[in-house]
Amino acid sequence: MHRSIIPSSHPRAKSLYIRELLVNGFRNGIVAPEGLIAHGRGETFDYLLGENTTETARTAIKAACSLLLLASHPVISVNGNLAALCPKEIVELSNLINADIEVNLFYWTRERELAIEKELKKRGAKTVRGIRSKDSARIPELQSERRTVDQDGIYKADSILVPLEDGDRTEALVKMHKKVIAIDLNPLSRTSKAAAVTIIDNAIRALPAMIVEAEQLKQKNDKVLKKIVDEFDNSKNLSESLEIIRCGVNARQR
Ligand code: ATP
Ligand code: MG
Repeated sequence: MHRSIIPSSHPRAKSLYIRELLVNGFRNGIVAPEGLIAHGRGETFDYLLGENTTETARTAIKAACSLLLLASHPVISVNGNLAALCPKEIVELSNLINADIEVNLFYWTRERELAIEKELKKRGAKTVRGIRSKDSARIPELQSERRTVDQDGIYKADSILVPLEDGDRTEALVKMHKKVIAIDLNPLSRTSKAAAVTIIDNAIRALPAMIVEAEQLKQKNDKVLKKIVDEFDNSKNLSESLEIIRCGVNARQR
Protein backbone atom coordinates (compact mmCIF):
# COMPACT_ATOMS: atom_id res chain seq x y z
CA MET A 1 0.00 0.00 0.00
CA HIS A 2 1.50 3.35 -1.10
CA ARG A 3 -0.83 5.61 0.83
CA SER A 4 1.89 6.73 3.21
CA ILE A 5 3.82 8.57 0.51
CA ILE A 6 0.90 10.98 -0.04
CA PRO A 7 0.80 13.62 2.71
CA SER A 8 -2.81 13.87 3.97
CA SER A 9 -2.41 17.66 3.97
CA HIS A 10 -1.85 17.68 0.20
CA PRO A 11 -4.71 19.62 -1.44
CA ARG A 12 -5.20 16.82 -4.00
CA ALA A 13 -4.66 13.96 -1.51
CA LYS A 14 -7.93 12.14 -2.23
CA SER A 15 -7.43 12.21 -5.97
CA LEU A 16 -3.81 11.03 -5.61
CA TYR A 17 -4.92 8.27 -3.26
CA ILE A 18 -7.42 6.99 -5.84
CA ARG A 19 -4.63 6.95 -8.44
CA GLU A 20 -2.50 4.92 -6.04
CA LEU A 21 -5.26 2.34 -5.64
CA LEU A 22 -5.36 1.90 -9.40
CA VAL A 23 -1.58 1.75 -9.78
CA ASN A 24 -1.42 -0.85 -6.99
CA GLY A 25 -4.19 -2.76 -8.76
CA PHE A 26 -2.13 -2.63 -11.96
CA ARG A 27 0.95 -3.92 -10.14
CA ASN A 28 -1.12 -6.76 -8.63
CA GLY A 29 -2.46 -7.83 -12.03
CA ILE A 30 -6.03 -6.62 -11.38
CA VAL A 31 -6.07 -3.47 -13.54
CA ALA A 32 -5.27 -3.47 -17.28
CA PRO A 33 -2.86 -0.74 -18.51
CA GLU A 34 -5.76 0.66 -20.55
CA GLY A 35 -7.76 0.85 -17.31
CA LEU A 36 -5.36 3.50 -16.04
CA ILE A 37 -6.13 5.61 -19.10
CA ALA A 38 -9.89 5.05 -18.71
CA HIS A 39 -9.52 6.37 -15.17
CA GLY A 40 -7.97 9.53 -16.60
CA ARG A 41 -11.09 10.16 -18.68
CA GLY A 42 -13.20 9.59 -15.59
CA GLU A 43 -11.22 11.84 -13.28
CA THR A 44 -11.49 14.75 -15.71
CA PHE A 45 -15.25 14.63 -15.31
CA ASP A 46 -14.89 14.15 -11.57
CA TYR A 47 -12.82 17.34 -11.37
CA LEU A 48 -15.50 19.24 -13.28
CA LEU A 49 -18.24 17.81 -11.06
CA GLY A 50 -16.49 19.02 -7.90
CA GLU A 51 -15.27 15.56 -6.74
CA ASN A 52 -18.32 15.09 -4.54
CA THR A 53 -21.51 13.07 -4.81
CA THR A 54 -24.00 15.64 -6.11
CA GLU A 55 -27.68 15.80 -5.14
CA THR A 56 -28.38 14.76 -8.74
CA ALA A 57 -26.27 11.63 -8.25
CA ARG A 58 -28.08 10.94 -4.96
CA THR A 59 -31.43 10.94 -6.77
CA ALA A 60 -30.03 8.39 -9.23
CA ILE A 61 -28.57 6.30 -6.38
CA LYS A 62 -32.01 6.09 -4.81
CA ALA A 63 -33.61 4.97 -8.08
CA ALA A 64 -30.76 2.52 -8.73
CA CYS A 65 -31.12 0.87 -5.31
CA SER A 66 -34.90 0.66 -5.68
CA LEU A 67 -34.55 -1.01 -9.06
CA LEU A 68 -31.99 -3.48 -7.74
CA LEU A 69 -34.12 -4.32 -4.69
CA LEU A 70 -37.14 -4.93 -6.93
CA ALA A 71 -35.16 -7.23 -9.25
CA SER A 72 -35.59 -10.97 -9.09
CA HIS A 73 -32.06 -11.65 -10.35
CA PRO A 74 -29.67 -8.72 -9.96
CA VAL A 75 -25.98 -8.95 -10.90
CA ILE A 76 -23.05 -6.63 -10.17
CA SER A 77 -20.65 -6.66 -13.12
CA VAL A 78 -17.04 -6.16 -12.01
CA ASN A 79 -14.03 -5.05 -14.05
CA GLY A 80 -10.43 -4.44 -13.00
CA ASN A 81 -10.79 -0.78 -12.06
CA LEU A 82 -13.80 -1.43 -9.85
CA ALA A 83 -12.08 -4.34 -8.12
CA ALA A 84 -9.08 -2.11 -7.39
CA LEU A 85 -11.17 0.82 -6.15
CA CYS A 86 -13.76 -0.79 -3.89
CA PRO A 87 -13.56 -4.60 -3.54
CA LYS A 88 -15.01 -4.62 -0.01
CA GLU A 89 -18.01 -2.51 -1.01
CA ILE A 90 -18.78 -4.75 -4.02
CA VAL A 91 -19.16 -7.70 -1.66
CA GLU A 92 -21.10 -5.70 0.93
CA LEU A 93 -23.57 -4.34 -1.63
CA SER A 94 -24.04 -7.75 -3.24
CA ASN A 95 -24.97 -9.25 0.15
CA LEU A 96 -27.35 -6.41 0.90
CA ILE A 97 -29.30 -6.55 -2.37
CA ASN A 98 -28.91 -10.30 -2.91
CA ALA A 99 -26.98 -9.87 -6.14
CA ASP A 100 -24.54 -12.15 -7.93
CA ILE A 101 -21.03 -10.82 -8.54
CA GLU A 102 -19.71 -11.44 -12.05
CA VAL A 103 -16.29 -10.57 -13.48
CA ASN A 104 -16.50 -9.13 -17.00
CA LEU A 105 -13.43 -7.73 -18.75
CA PHE A 106 -12.94 -5.76 -21.95
CA TYR A 107 -9.19 -6.54 -21.98
CA TRP A 108 -9.64 -10.14 -20.93
CA THR A 109 -6.83 -12.40 -19.79
CA ARG A 110 -7.12 -15.56 -17.73
CA GLU A 111 -4.59 -14.21 -15.22
CA ARG A 112 -6.53 -11.00 -14.67
CA GLU A 113 -9.93 -12.66 -14.16
CA LEU A 114 -8.34 -15.02 -11.64
CA ALA A 115 -6.60 -12.14 -9.83
CA ILE A 116 -9.93 -10.29 -9.54
CA GLU A 117 -11.72 -13.43 -8.34
CA LYS A 118 -9.01 -13.90 -5.69
CA GLU A 119 -9.32 -10.28 -4.51
CA LEU A 120 -13.12 -10.50 -4.20
CA LYS A 121 -12.95 -13.80 -2.34
CA LYS A 122 -10.35 -12.32 0.00
CA ARG A 123 -12.97 -9.65 0.79
CA GLY A 124 -15.60 -12.26 1.61
CA ALA A 125 -17.32 -13.07 -1.70
CA LYS A 126 -18.60 -16.64 -1.59
CA THR A 127 -19.24 -17.05 -5.30
CA VAL A 128 -17.71 -15.07 -8.13
CA ARG A 129 -19.30 -15.68 -11.52
CA GLY A 130 -17.87 -14.98 -14.96
CA ILE A 131 -14.70 -17.04 -14.66
CA ARG A 132 -14.65 -18.53 -18.14
CA SER A 133 -15.53 -22.14 -18.65
CA LYS A 134 -17.03 -24.29 -21.37
CA ASP A 135 -20.48 -23.28 -20.08
CA SER A 136 -20.00 -19.54 -20.69
CA ALA A 137 -22.73 -17.86 -22.77
CA ARG A 138 -22.43 -15.07 -25.34
CA ILE A 139 -24.25 -11.77 -25.70
CA PRO A 140 -25.59 -11.63 -29.26
CA GLU A 141 -24.28 -8.88 -31.62
CA LEU A 142 -21.29 -8.02 -29.45
CA GLN A 143 -17.77 -8.48 -30.82
CA SER A 144 -15.62 -7.54 -27.81
CA GLU A 145 -14.33 -9.88 -25.10
CA ARG A 146 -17.09 -8.50 -22.92
CA ARG A 147 -19.63 -10.62 -24.84
CA THR A 148 -18.68 -13.74 -22.87
CA VAL A 149 -20.92 -13.95 -19.82
CA ASP A 150 -22.03 -16.48 -17.22
CA GLN A 151 -25.03 -18.60 -18.31
CA ASP A 152 -26.58 -18.34 -14.85
CA GLY A 153 -25.35 -14.81 -14.13
CA ILE A 154 -25.56 -11.82 -16.50
CA TYR A 155 -27.12 -13.93 -19.26
CA LYS A 156 -30.18 -14.68 -17.11
CA ALA A 157 -30.20 -11.52 -14.96
CA ASP A 158 -33.05 -9.02 -15.09
CA SER A 159 -31.08 -6.07 -13.63
CA ILE A 160 -27.36 -5.45 -13.97
CA LEU A 161 -25.22 -2.86 -12.19
CA VAL A 162 -22.41 -1.85 -14.54
CA PRO A 163 -19.84 0.50 -13.07
CA LEU A 164 -17.38 1.78 -15.72
CA GLU A 165 -18.96 0.00 -18.64
CA ASP A 166 -18.31 0.17 -22.37
CA GLY A 167 -21.15 1.63 -24.42
CA ASP A 168 -21.33 -1.33 -26.82
CA ARG A 169 -22.16 -3.79 -24.09
CA THR A 170 -24.60 -1.49 -22.35
CA GLU A 171 -26.51 -1.12 -25.62
CA ALA A 172 -26.42 -4.90 -26.20
CA LEU A 173 -27.70 -5.61 -22.66
CA VAL A 174 -30.55 -3.13 -23.13
CA LYS A 175 -31.45 -4.89 -26.40
CA MET A 176 -31.67 -8.10 -24.36
CA HIS A 177 -34.36 -6.30 -22.28
CA LYS A 178 -32.23 -6.07 -19.18
CA LYS A 179 -32.50 -3.12 -16.81
CA VAL A 180 -29.04 -1.58 -16.82
CA ILE A 181 -27.86 0.61 -13.97
CA ALA A 182 -24.62 2.43 -14.75
CA ILE A 183 -22.07 4.26 -12.64
CA ASP A 184 -20.20 6.56 -15.01
CA LEU A 185 -18.61 9.96 -14.49
CA ASN A 186 -19.28 10.99 -18.08
CA PRO A 187 -22.88 12.11 -18.66
CA LEU A 188 -22.18 12.11 -22.42
CA SER A 189 -21.02 8.49 -22.77
CA ARG A 190 -23.06 5.94 -24.70
CA THR A 191 -23.35 3.94 -21.49
CA SER A 192 -24.83 6.89 -19.58
CA LYS A 193 -27.38 7.53 -22.30
CA ALA A 194 -28.41 3.90 -22.85
CA ALA A 195 -28.82 2.84 -19.20
CA ALA A 196 -32.17 2.93 -17.40
CA VAL A 197 -30.53 4.62 -14.41
CA THR A 198 -27.14 6.32 -14.59
CA ILE A 199 -25.30 7.45 -11.48
CA ILE A 200 -22.95 10.26 -12.50
CA ASP A 201 -20.40 9.82 -9.75
CA ASN A 202 -17.07 8.23 -9.00
CA ALA A 203 -17.61 4.51 -8.29
CA ILE A 204 -15.39 4.84 -5.22
CA ARG A 205 -18.00 7.20 -3.67
CA ALA A 206 -21.13 5.80 -5.34
CA LEU A 207 -20.80 2.25 -3.98
CA PRO A 208 -20.58 3.25 -0.29
CA ALA A 209 -23.49 5.67 -0.86
CA MET A 210 -25.49 2.84 -2.45
CA ILE A 211 -24.85 0.66 0.61
CA VAL A 212 -26.28 3.34 2.94
CA GLU A 213 -29.28 3.92 0.64
CA ALA A 214 -30.02 0.23 0.10
CA GLU A 215 -29.99 -0.38 3.87
CA GLN A 216 -32.74 2.22 4.26
CA LEU A 217 -34.77 1.23 1.19
CA LYS A 218 -34.74 -2.42 2.21
CA GLN A 219 -37.23 -1.47 4.94
CA LYS A 220 -39.73 -0.15 2.36
CA ASN A 221 -42.34 -2.16 0.50
CA ASP A 222 -42.36 -2.79 -3.26
CA LYS A 223 -45.00 -0.13 -3.89
CA VAL A 224 -42.75 2.59 -2.47
CA LEU A 225 -39.75 1.28 -4.44
CA LYS A 226 -41.76 1.18 -7.70
CA LYS A 227 -42.86 4.77 -7.18
CA ILE A 228 -39.23 5.88 -6.80
CA VAL A 229 -38.30 4.07 -10.03
CA ASP A 230 -41.31 5.44 -11.95
CA GLU A 231 -40.59 9.00 -10.92
CA PHE A 232 -36.96 8.82 -12.03
CA ASP A 233 -36.14 10.36 -15.42
CA ASN A 234 -32.65 9.39 -16.63
CA SER A 235 -32.33 11.99 -19.41
CA LYS A 236 -33.41 14.76 -17.05
CA ASN A 237 -30.91 13.53 -14.45
CA LEU A 238 -28.11 13.49 -17.07
CA SER A 239 -28.99 17.05 -18.15
CA GLU A 240 -28.71 18.17 -14.53
CA SER A 241 -25.20 16.71 -14.27
CA LEU A 242 -24.22 18.47 -17.50
CA GLU A 243 -25.56 21.71 -16.08
CA ILE A 244 -23.37 21.23 -12.98
CA ILE A 245 -20.35 20.70 -15.25
CA ARG A 246 -21.25 23.81 -17.29
CA CYS A 247 -21.99 26.13 -14.38
CA GLY A 248 -19.65 24.75 -11.74
CA VAL A 249 -20.00 25.59 -8.09
CA ASN A 250 -23.01 27.91 -8.56
CA ALA A 251 -25.14 25.16 -10.08
CA ARG A 252 -23.99 22.74 -7.37
CA GLN A 253 -25.07 25.08 -4.60
CA ARG A 254 -28.41 26.00 -6.12
P1 ATP B 1 -18.78 4.67 -23.94
O1 ATP B 1 -18.17 3.41 -24.44
O2 ATP B 1 -19.89 4.45 -22.94
O3 ATP B 1 -19.21 5.64 -25.01
P2 ATP B 1 -16.11 5.64 -23.43
O4 ATP B 1 -15.68 4.81 -24.60
O5 ATP B 1 -15.83 7.10 -23.42
O6 ATP B 1 -17.66 5.46 -23.11
P3 ATP B 1 -14.95 3.58 -21.80
O7 ATP B 1 -13.47 3.58 -21.77
O8 ATP B 1 -15.67 2.62 -22.68
O9 ATP B 1 -15.44 5.08 -22.10
O10 ATP B 1 -15.53 3.37 -20.33
C1 ATP B 1 -14.99 3.99 -19.22
C2 ATP B 1 -15.99 4.97 -18.64
O11 ATP B 1 -15.84 4.93 -17.24
C3 ATP B 1 -15.75 6.42 -19.06
O12 ATP B 1 -16.98 7.03 -19.37
C4 ATP B 1 -15.15 7.10 -17.81
O13 ATP B 1 -15.59 8.43 -17.69
C5 ATP B 1 -15.76 6.26 -16.71
N1 ATP B 1 -14.97 6.17 -15.48
C6 ATP B 1 -13.63 6.01 -15.32
N2 ATP B 1 -13.29 5.92 -14.03
C7 ATP B 1 -14.44 6.00 -13.31
C8 ATP B 1 -14.75 5.92 -11.92
N3 ATP B 1 -13.81 5.77 -11.00
N4 ATP B 1 -16.06 6.02 -11.57
C9 ATP B 1 -17.03 6.17 -12.47
N5 ATP B 1 -16.80 6.24 -13.81
C10 ATP B 1 -15.52 6.15 -14.23
MG1 MG C 1 -16.18 2.76 -24.78
